[in-house]
Amino acid sequence: MRLTPLSTLSLLSMAVGISLASTAQAARPEAPNLSNSEFQQCLDGLKNSSKFSGVDSFTFNNYRPTQPDPSVIQSLNYQPEFQKDVWDYLSALVDKERVEDGIRAKRQWRDTLRQIESRYGVKAEHVLGVWGVESNFGQTLGKKPLFESLATLSCFDRRQSYFQGEYANALKIVQNGDIAPSDMTGSWAGAFGQTQFMPSTFLELAVDFDGDGRRDLVNSVPDALASTANFLDKRGYRTGEPWGYEVKLPNGFWAASNRKDKKSISHWRNQGITLANGSPLPSDLSSAGLLLPAGVEGPAFLVGKNFDTFYSYNASENYALAIAHLSDLITREDSSKTDFVTAWPTDDPGISRQQAKDIQQALINAGYDIGGVDGIIGDGTRTAIQQYQSSRGIFPADGRAGQKFYRAIVGNTAPSGAPSTNQYGNQYGQPSNSQPLRPASADRMGQLIQQQTTPSNTYSAQPSARPASSGNVRYRRVTDASGAVKLVRVDEGL
Ligand code: CA
Repeated sequence: MRLTPLSTLSLLSMAVGISLASTAQAARPEAPNLSNSEFQQCLDGLKNSSKFSGVDSFTFNNYRPTQPDPSVIQSLNYQPEFQKDVWDYLSALVDKERVEDGIRAKRQWRDTLRQIESRYGVKAEHVLGVWGVESNFGQTLGKKPLFESLATLSCFDRRQSYFQGEYANALKIVQNGDIAPSDMTGSWAGAFGQTQFMPSTFLELAVDFDGDGRRDLVNSVPDALASTANFLDKRGYRTGEPWGYEVKLPNGFWAASNRKDKKSISHWRNQGITLANGSPLPSDLSSAGLLLPAGVEGPAFLVGKNFDTFYSYNASENYALAIAHLSDLITREDSSKTDFVTAWPTDDPGISRQQAKDIQQALINAGYDIGGVDGIIGDGTRTAIQQYQSSRGIFPADGRAGQKFYRAIVGNTAPSGAPSTNQYGNQYGQPSNSQPLRPASADRMGQLIQQQTTPSNTYSAQPSARPASSGNVRYRRVTDASGAVKLVRVDEGL
């Protein structure tokens, strides 16, 4: 598999630990120059290939892009989210706002969720957890035209064969009449609708739950929620079981995270593990594996089969943990405390989306041109943070938005109303960054694809909602002889 310079950089930073990733902000590459004649030749070839045999020529020609979209190749090869720390990842995905939105959605769709629960056996809050993390309860679906994105990815760069299959499947969805062509928009990599299914997953698992004869995962909430439940059910969901729970490890306990190594609950009891609040482990999980997203010094979890079904939705343990945690908070109907009982092993935890918005507003007030306030820390915001840190001697000037930076800038800047200029950008000789911020879903998708470049990856025989990826990179905090604290990578299975 060909590696681009940037994916090589990511592999290198994985090999040496987190330091490079957390301090170096690689520049976003230019969008590549793609030849349209090469693109059109490629599409001519695809049209007659066996992969597209189920697509009629009217459909193929009608939605054939007139030119490629270089920005999707740029996204394929540049994923700043790739090395995100687990606490940053979770604090943005499971914040007070999303829990409150989830509680509202649960009340609004109570009857539908009850019907879905009785048909598929999947707990309402687990469906809501997926919906909230995937599309912010239907609010963030992605705006990239799917046919243009998938056709471009089918003809250029790595993973063309995979995307050719998804391109053909996207055309079949329109040919079947399930989704209106104008609704075929999504992430740059082709995940679309309220469930963010890839086209192949749609064809396999989408269901019509509102009875209008169409599987419309874009406009029908009942179709989207039932399709999510069907996905979890078909991946082995166990009715009546929790996903797992946060636990407390006994003093001196040492183990590597290994979700797949499932043991009986009595085994874990015998190891001295309790619930996070100290009470004995309940007996409602048939078996469970130990998940340590940040090593033994961070929050610890015992997770069962239902956690694995979340994982199969988007092969990332941190992603599955976000769904699990969000679903618990929606079950409790409590948005006041979104942290786990055990703190993450960091003195600079992550920020919520509201805090991200506050930081962006403060940067604008301080004269940085970041293109607007959207609560997503993308390239423009990171660059501005790094410049702000450099200009004020904040160390390290790494462009990261954590609680320390939040306190530094929100405490130091006048409230909204100050004029927005680009004086600091010009002062430091940096061009203003006016690139549009990409939605988080696109970053996440790309993160998965980037992870495909690691040699340990294998494709699952069963398609997940997204392509499979390797497990998460985990770190543990180590104090060396000089007293310096550093993070050391902990590989799965070691
Ligand atoms: Ca329908």
